[in-house]
Amino acid sequence: MNQTELQIDAFAVAELLGLRRRGSRWWCPSCQTDTRHASPDLSIGRDGRLSCFKCGLTGNIFSLIMAVNGCDYPTAAAWLADATKDGTAYKGMLEAKSQAADHTACEIKPLTPAQRTEVYKRLLGLCVSCSAATTELWLAGKGLAGATLDRLGVRFLPAGLQWPVYRRLSRDFGLETMLAAGLCAESDDQSAIWPRGATFFRRGIPVLVIPYRVRGDVTGLKLRPIATELPADLPRFVMVGTGPLYNLDVLAVPPELDDAVFLCEGESDCWSLAQVGLNAIGIAGASNVAALGRPDVLAELRRREVYCAFDADAAGNRAADELTELFLRHGLRRLARVKLPDEFKDVNEVAQEAAA
Ligand SMILES: [Zn+2]
Repeated sequence: MNQTELQIDAFAVAELLGLRRRGSRWWCPSCQTDTRHASPDLSIGRDGRLSCFKCGLTGNIFSLIMAVNGCDYPTAAAWLADATKDGTAYKGMLEAKSQAADHTACEIKPLTPAQRTEVYKRLLGLCVSCSAATTELWLAGKGLAGATLDRLGVRFLPAGLQWPVYRRLSRDFGLETMLAAGLCAESDDQSAIWPRGATFFRRGIPVLVIPYRVRGDVTGLKLRPIATELPADLPRFVMVGTGPLYNLDVLAVPPELDDAVFLCEGESDCWSLAQVGLNAIGIAGASNVAALGRPDVLAELRRREVYCAFDADAAGNRAADELTELFLRHGLRRLARVKLPDEFKDVNEVAQEAAA
C-alpha cells in the first residue's frame, strides 16, 4: 500500500493527527510536542515526504502516524485506513460516490426536519459545557457566565475534540447526511469533503456551537470561534442550517407567563439579556429585520410586549426604523424602543459594565 494509490492528502492526515502548523512548517511530533516551542521545524510535502530540521525525523506519511501514535507500521496503516474511510481526507471520495450510485449520487437528498435535528443534537451532545475554563475566560470579557450559555443549550467544542467529533459524526451518519445537514462541504476544487468549521479547526481555534431552535427543533447551528484576536483572514462565524433568527424558542412559552420580549442584533446581546432573566430574540445583524416579518413570528410577537434593543449606531437606528415600519404595516402597536445610555454601543456593553 502506498500513498499515491490511496490518494491521501498528507496535510489532511497531519491535521487528523492533531498536528498544528504555521505557514508551511509543522510542530514536530517527535521533538516539539510541547507547543511552547516558538517555531515549528517539520516540513511535510503534499505527497507526505517529511523532514524535521531539528531532530532529523524523516520518512513518509506512515512514519508520521507512527511517530504521533507511537505505533508500528501495521497499526499505522490500519489507523490510516480507518481515519480516511469516512472521506475526511480521502480525495477519491466523490468520484467513488458518483460511480457507486448511478450518476445521481452527487444530488444530495435533503433531510427531513427530524433527521436534521437528530444530527445537530448529536453534535451538540458530543461537545462540552460552556463552563469550561477557556469559555469562561472569554465570556468574562463580555460580562457573561458559562452557566447562562449552558441554560440556552450553547455548547463548547475545544480544539482537541474538533476532528475526533466530526470523524465520529461522519462515521455514525455517513458523509451524505453530513453534507445534507450542512455540517460538511466539498472543497472548492471538489477534491475533498471537509467539516464546515475546518477553517477554525485547522488553526486550533476552539468554537462555540450555538443551536438555533424553533419549537424545540434544532434547525441550525452557528459555529463561533473563541479567540481574543481572531486572525483577519478568518470568518467571524460559520452558519449551518437555518438562520437568521436566534432564540426563537422564547416565543414557544405562553405569553401570559412571559409577555415581554426584546429584539436585539445578535447572540451576545441575547445572552446578556438572558443573564438578567429577560427573553430576547437576535436577528443576526441589523440587515435582517425583514426576517421578523414571518407570519408565525409576527403572530407570536403580536401577543407580547416587544422592546427593540438594537445597537446604538447608524445601522441599528435604521434597523429600528425599519422594524417600526414593519410593525405598523402588520398592525402591531406594542413596540417600545429601548434607549441605551449614551456611552453604550449595545446591550452587551451594558452587561459588561454591570458585571465589572
Ligand atoms: Zn523533530
